[in-house]
Formats: sequence, C-alpha cells, structure tokens
Amino acid sequence: MSVQVRSTTQHVDLVVSAVHRVLRDYAPEAVHVVIGDLEPKHSSFTLTASFEGGMTIGHAVLATEDAEDVCVAVADQLQDMAIENRFGAWPRCPGHTHPLWPSRTGDVASWVCPTEPAHCTRPIGRLLTR
Ligand SMILES: [Zn+2]
Repeated sequence: MSVQVRSTTQHVDLVVSAVHRVLRDYAPEAVHVVIGDLEPKHSSFTLTASFEGGMTIGHAVLATEDAEDVCVAVADQLQDMAIENRFGAWPRCPGHTHPLWPSRTGDVASWVCPTEPAHCTRPIGRLLTR
C-alpha cells in the first residue's frame, strides 16, 4: 500500500496520519491512496483510492484540528470506498455480517459494532493486532 500527498494545506498532516492508520486495518490487500486539495481554504481534501484489481474511487474529507475526529472522517470515507470496490462489508464485525462503523469512543477513533458496541470496539489502526 502507498500514500501519495499532493497538498501542502494546513491539516493535511492529520489526514496523512489518519490514512496510514486506517490502512493498517486494511492489510494485506494492496491499495494506493492519493490525497489532494478540494477546498484548501476550508481544509477540505480529496481522497482517491486505487484498489488492486479494482477501481479508482474518490471521496472528499473535511479536516479539523482534532486528530481523532479526522481519523473517524477518513475511516468513514475509506470504508465507503473499500465497500464500493469490494461489494462487501469492510471491516467486517467479528461474528456478525455487517461492517464495523467508525466512531469516536471517548478520546479514541474506533471501529464499533453498529448494533452492540459492547460486542466489538477496537481502536482504528489496531484492528488486526492483538
Ligand atoms: Zn456487530
């Protein structure tokens, strides 16, 4: 996987960190993400993802000064792109058929089971580690 940055706008560093963090949960499949500017004045970025054997999909993400909020926003967009590309749930909730949803739990951006948060809540970027 790789991440290419085509922006020097304020807050882009938070978006870059968030993309790397979310992609840690996407391994081992190859994906290439390009971060560009949408509306630099408003810290609005484009995320374009190219999936191995799949298509290229773009979405916009709005950055704030809060790294965890940016991570939730980036996870939301990358999840949409992964689901559009794979036509299935990603990341899948363990033992359930639905995908986990990105949400802020306390101070941490996390993947959360949408029906039973107690069933599965894992920090984004640490889904595949124990
Ligand atoms: Zn679930």
